[in-house]
Amino acid sequence: MKTIFTKIIEGEIPSIKLHEDALCTVILDINPVNKGHLLVISREPYPTFSECPQTTLDHLMAIAKLADSKLRTALGCEGTNLLINNGEASGQEVPHLHIHLIPRFTNDGKKFAFTKETYADGEMATYGKKLGF
Ligand code: AMP
Repeated sequence: MKTIFTKIIEGEIPSIKLHEDALCTVILDINPVNKGHLLVISREPYPTFSECPQTTLDHLMAIAKLADSKLRTALGCEGTNLLINNGEASGQEVPHLHIHLIPRFTNDGKKFAFTKETYADGEMATYGKKLGF
């Protein structure tokens, strides 16, 4: 079954397209955190970041960098959040790889709402051993 983003890429569902090339499409997010919030979407429907080939990821990041510049020059934003929800457990709603770029302005009142954990004694070193590569 096609993802909603494949339907958008193929023109079956309307969208505001900002860029298209052989590997990706860039659209405006329909429910922006701030106006101008955009999505860099891989043309191939890789369900997650983890499944995407490195060459495509490199391209998506290059396009995200261009989009970041455009947000700064066109909207005058002072920062951006780049975000990939990677898998359903992380909050990914559309299982088709996309990078969010959210324009940010000083004191715009938007923030990530993650609560943070603390490590018990010695636990951080254990995680370090598990995760070194
Ligand atoms: P995620 O939770 O990372 O999968 O984000 C999916 C994003 O797609 C959300 O920010 C939605 O607002 C956005 N979205 C869903 N449907 C559409 C649509 N038809 N056009 C543009 N953006 C959409």
